[in-house]
Amino acid sequence: MADVDLMDKLVSMCKRRGFIFPSAEIYGGFRSTYDYGPLGVAMLRNVKNAWWTSVVQRRRDVVGIDAAILSMPKIWESSGHLKTFTDPLVDCRSCKERWREDQIDGRCPNCGSTDLTESRAFNLMFKTFVGPTEDSASVAYLRPETAQGMFVNYRLVQQALRLKPPFGIAQIGKSFRNEITPGNFVFRTREFEQMELEFFVPPAEAKTWHEFWIQERYQWYLNLGISPEKLRLRPHDPDELSHYSAGTTDVEFLFPWGWGELEGIANRTDFDLSAHATGSGEDLSYYDQASGERYVPYVIEPAAGATRAMMSFLLAAYDEEEVAGEIRTVLRLHPKLAPYTVAVLPLSKKPELQGLSEQIFHEISATMSVDYDDTQSIGRRYRRQDEIGTPFCLTVDFESLNDSAVTVRDRDTMQQERVPIVDVLAYLRGRLEGL
Ligand code: ATP
Repeated sequence: MADVDLMDKLVSMCKRRGFIFPSAEIYGGFRSTYDYGPLGVAMLRNVKNAWWTSVVQRRRDVVGIDAAILSMPKIWESSGHLKTFTDPLVDCRSCKERWREDQIDGRCPNCGSTDLTESRAFNLMFKTFVGPTEDSASVAYLRPETAQGMFVNYRLVQQALRLKPPFGIAQIGKSFRNEITPGNFVFRTREFEQMELEFFVPPAEAKTWHEFWIQERYQWYLNLGISPEKLRLRPHDPDELSHYSAGTTDVEFLFPWGWGELEGIANRTDFDLSAHATGSGEDLSYYDQASGERYVPYVIEPAAGATRAMMSFLLAAYDEEEVAGEIRTVLRLHPKLAPYTVAVLPLSKKPELQGLSEQIFHEISATMSVDYDDTQSIGRRYRRQDEIGTPFCLTVDFESLNDSAVTVRDRDTMQQERVPIVDVLAYLRGRLEGL
């Protein structure tokens, strides 16, 4: 499928099937802002859960937090964001469009003119006011990254849980950037969700942990179904590195328009804790009683976008194939990411079948996400479930009333199997195990 077609098809499927809608569409839409519909919110939650399970739940050395989005100017002064969190903005004198200078090649992408203004630094942080007065004392910022929440809470977390480096603090949440040119669907938006880990280590161990997290995070995308041809690691050139970084490697995905960043894994040295120690006057060093050493921990930061990751999983999963002379659209999502794991499909609306189907729905929905669909032909219902990526369909037919079994249909192979109702849950668990 041509790449342009893929994007168009995905965007249209996302709207039609309730994954992602243009925000405020009844008013004509609101500038590259999107709302997540019923299937989108389920899938996004699955992406975030998969990250949290891997980075927090399954590790003894990482804990989670949830910090405030509204944040104090002092944080952004110390972190350097007030001064340096900028993009170079240029105006086209001919058509008046505005662009990020580093994303165009000296030519306006809208009208082709090379008559552009000098670039100026444009700060990407959203400023707002807290309380009933709009003066400088009441300024606050919407956080442009979740990372600072981990740095400013570092000492409280470390002491409350008596943690000793190496250990990590993780957070998932919304971030806001006044991007000059948002676009490519939810790849770049002004409001988006991030999944970030700040892993605090003794300075001498920083290189080893950096390499560890690069591999760990790369593997996460592969485990969730992105093929190795569409995923690569790209170390930053020295002149590309952020001022705080002693080394950054990006995980990149092959989007329809080329390679793009999914996640950056940086060795941030002791930049952050030192900056907040200076800014706040608090001592953020760690005293290691065993070695008698005092040091400011280095930070290894894997910083990923949840909404951008979701888009890459959707792109990687979207497939069309010909089945019996018709095109079948199938979203080959990893079962952990699919909005529904199972669909219960009573063959008819007759009360006996409905009763049994509802019973099955109630039993399975206690542990898995289940859709229930009793409209139109069974063939159509299978296609609808294929299109939204549901890995298993359970069809309840009249025979089920006699043999107490249902037909389980597999999304990818379309193979069907008869399974006793009492064994269905164990059967599904077995199929999902180890995935
Ligand atoms: P870029 O250079 O593309 O603006 P960045 O390198 O500044 O991005 P980071 O600050 O490293 O991005 O953010 C970490 C992750 O957060 C990114 O890899 C991406 O997945 C996600 N992200 C950043 N900005 C956006 C955005 N505007 N919309 C959606 N996701 C974003």
